[in-house]
Amino acid sequence: MPKTILITGGAGFIGSHLCRKLLGQGNKIICLDNFFTGSKKNIEELIKNQDFELIEQDVTVPISLAVDEIYHLACPASPVRYQFNPVETVRTNVVGTINMLDLAKNCKAKILQASTSEIYGDPKEHPQKETYFGNVNSLSIRACYDEGKRCAETLCADYHRQHGVDIRIVRIFNTYGPNMDIDDGRVISNFIVQALKNQPITIYGNGSQTRSFQYIDDLIEGMVKMMENDRQFIGPVNLGNPREFTIKELAQKVLRHIPESQSQIVYTELPEADPKQRCPDINLAKGKLDWQPSIELENGLEKTIAYFKETIKINGQSEN
Ligand code: NAD
Ligand code: UDP
Repeated sequence: MPKTILITGGAGFIGSHLCRKLLGQGNKIICLDNFFTGSKKNIEELIKNQDFELIEQDVTVPISLAVDEIYHLACPASPVRYQFNPVETVRTNVVGTINMLDLAKNCKAKILQASTSEIYGDPKEHPQKETYFGNVNSLSIRACYDEGKRCAETLCADYHRQHGVDIRIVRIFNTYGPNMDIDDGRVISNFIVQALKNQPITIYGNGSQTRSFQYIDDLIEGMVKMMENDRQFIGPVNLGNPREFTIKELAQKVLRHIPESQSQIVYTELPEADPKQRCPDINLAKGKLDWQPSIELENGLEKTIAYFKETIKINGQSEN
């Protein structure tokens, strides 16, 4: 049965893939976005579809709609972008999430909160299980995002307990793929774009910090499975790829996939409060959702490199 689904942050990297997937399943999609980090280009094919509606609005402004499901993603995800206006990042996570939970309560919709591995901060437990409460410094420059997302989880739990709202919480680990913004500052897009443009590959610190990278298609499958599970499983659940790499290994891998690149690796200052290691324990998602990622970093990098090659070509043409 087709549903009416609201996707906040639907013009962003993850949101645009979710819009496409759920529209393709015959649903009516309402995409709400203020285009802070998202782009019209990410949704330009979808706008032509009569079952796709775009509302250009900030999620901190209350809204009244009739919907069956809400995927709540609106929030900048790259450290550079969420630290650009930290007060606004907190407001988006707190006020924006209250608005979406009120909407879910009023129209009896299911709501999925796009939470994050940053909930775990600079983790002292490795790999991270959902039962770990995290190690977050509330005063650091990352706290606007980390604490904002932690508060958003709290709000979901309280609306569930206090008002019976049907919530789902997914904790997303580093995800990459086509539709990432070329200037967004995250490590995979930075390294690929630098390598394609023969610019220095900027490793922050000595590159021994680790991350685990999940390809976008795996994440989208996990998010939809979480929303659709009818076993009353509300999470939180980790969605990520448990293969862990140092940032130095990632830089070397990107260079191996772009053999024509003349780029050299340079080491620059490590940003404040940069987590030293991150890797999901995904046993809960395997057991409850029968989900695990299937796309290896090597294959995902190929597809993402192809996307950025095309984007650079188009941008270059439009500059002429
Ligand atoms: P993104 O920056 O590409 O997308 C975020 C979208 O939200 C953009 O379209 C932006 O314009 C919109 N937005 C931001 N503030 C808004 C506001 N106040 N009102 C309306 N729209 C607003 O980021 P993404 O990687 O697609 O991340 C999407 C969600 O997933 C975020 O909530 C993020 O915290 C979460 N997440 C992402 C990752 C990842 O690796 N990509 C990891 C963990 C969590
Ligand atoms: N990083 C890097 N060079 C870059 C961008 C990021 O070395 O050009 C590092 C960053 O310091 C962090 C890791 O790569 O340790 C992942 O950074 P990203 O911003 O992608 O996401 P995070 O996991 O920190 O939120």
